[in-house]
Amino acid sequence: MNTTLAAPTAVRDDLLARAAHVIPGGASAGGRPDFGDVITRAQGAYLWNAEGKRYIDHLNSYGPIVIGHADPRVNAAVAEVAATVDLNWVGPQAGEVELAERIVGAMPSAEKVVFMNTGTDALQHALHVARAATSRQRVFKFHGHYHGWVGHLGVGASFDVEQGVAPPPDASNSGGAEAGLASDVDVVDWNDFDAVRAAFAAHGDEYAAAFLEPYLHSYTNAPPAPGFLELLRELTTQHGVVLVFDEVKTGFRHHLGGYQAIAGVTPDLTAIGKAMGNGYTIAGLAGRADLMDLLGTQVTIDGTYYANPYGLAASIATFDLLADGGVERLWSLGERLRDGLTRELNDSGVAANVTGIGSGWIINWRPEPPVTFRQAVDADFELGEAFRVGMLDAGILLPPYVITDARLNLAFTEDDVDETIAAAASVLRRVAR
Ligand code: PMP
Repeated sequence: MNTTLAAPTAVRDDLLARAAHVIPGGASAGGRPDFGDVITRAQGAYLWNAEGKRYIDHLNSYGPIVIGHADPRVNAAVAEVAATVDLNWVGPQAGEVELAERIVGAMPSAEKVVFMNTGTDALQHALHVARAATSRQRVFKFHGHYHGWVGHLGVGASFDVEQGVAPPPDASNSGGAEAGLASDVDVVDWNDFDAVRAAFAAHGDEYAAAFLEPYLHSYTNAPPAPGFLELLRELTTQHGVVLVFDEVKTGFRHHLGGYQAIAGVTPDLTAIGKAMGNGYTIAGLAGRADLMDLLGTQVTIDGTYYANPYGLAASIATFDLLADGGVERLWSLGERLRDGLTRELNDSGVAANVTGIGSGWIINWRPEPPVTFRQAVDADFELGEAFRVGMLDAGILLPPYVITDARLNLAFTEDDVDETIAAAASVLRRVAR
């Protein structure tokens, strides 16, 4: 990947060289590739490098930052529990109950909810609950839908084995290390009605669970086709399969009730994470009471830092700020950005398009918006990468991998959005062929 900036900084070079000696691969996760600079300060909508160069941040830590970097209101809530009740592994805490009540009040599928640390935690617990509830092992999922790095649910694994295509080098979303996908996971194309019907006709009675991102964010932004979520709801009910919505990227950010509240289709279990804590560590699993009650009885749920006080406090503050007009504001900023970028792409004559909802967006470097993962990876990566590097130079930080989705946060102003659009217009003029 060409991530070379015109003028790499001394601090950047020094840190990267030192990292290469003491950290495998130079970063603690494969999904943290060198995007071309090292950030030393973050505030609101902005990041700065050691030399004081400012970036408008459209990565937002791959999703968690939704209110804004280092938001003083969220930080104050965390500081208060840090100074008063810094208890882990003792519960329930008041914050745990208060957050659970908010989520149960907002999310259609949430009769009960538990808190853990990561989206991967939540999805693993969902898998265990579904297997315990059904006494079945087999699992159904979609190409390009990433459900955490453990076990069988990583996207790269499934695509790798079935398509013979190398997983993209974005390990935060690839699960690429798991080349040996187990035979008890069936994987079909997103939005392929016939493939879903065929899989359920053949194996519906063997599935413990069906996993999906109800609005695909792991690689491009691709909505469900009209009727697609309804079909999944119908088939899973018919075959006694636990329907699991992975709302790790959509939850809180697009609606406090998750994408299910927008789509009007209610799953049995829902995993949430990322934007819940505005950067503090927290995730959750919500769902039907009879399924959730298996946790702690038939299915283990144990984690020293589960429902940690800092994540809970951050999440309550984040929820309340989003409930107080925050979500609507994110949607209006996002729409302004997507409209502006679409206009500039059309003017440039480049065969590309913008997809997304709420505060989420991506440019697909192909003539048509992709509806499957296969289509998402069939893009002009060279052009997308040239655009990304040009934007970085212009002070706009985008995800370091061309088909990874971007997003803004609540600290953005209209001026930040318009600056992004203007930068895109000028970079497009340079890179368009
Ligand atoms: N599901 C989705 C849709 C995700 O995007 C991610 C993270 N990229 C996860 C699950 C896993 O969450 P975590 O990294 O917190 O384990």
